[in-house]
Amino acid sequence: MTDCVFCKIISGNVPSYMVYENDAVFAFLDAKPVNNGHTLVVPKEHFSNLYELPDSLISKLSIAIRDLSVSIKKAMNADGINIEMNNDAVAGQVIFHAHFHIIPRFDGDGLRHLPGKEFSKEKMEEILGKIKST
Ligand code: ZN
Repeated sequence: MTDCVFCKIISGNVPSYMVYENDAVFAFLDAKPVNNGHTLVVPKEHFSNLYELPDSLISKLSIAIRDLSVSIKKAMNADGINIEMNNDAVAGQVIFHAHFHIIPRFDGDGLRHLPGKEFSKEKMEEILGKIKST
């Protein structure tokens, strides 16, 4: 995709701090990191989001995400790692080239998780029914 900034990064037309690449996967430091070592892992081929990714690519991405998480956690001396992916604008996706965030976590870094909610048994069963019938 010619107007996609991640495609331009992968092709080298936009500079990046490349962390890793193989035949299918490219990883680089997030330009606006939330913590030291915040890395984006993307497929080299353009897909807009998770829904479009083929099985073979999900497998390669997952392996790269695992291996990079181990390396980055060690390199940053992090206490933990979050793997995050935003799909669609309402979920916070800004660049519409599928990407996974590897975010090192440190004790007391102040980052917060999404707030959990308490649902009734009926609500949980209703939601489960909808998901399972799709
Ligand atoms: Zn792209």
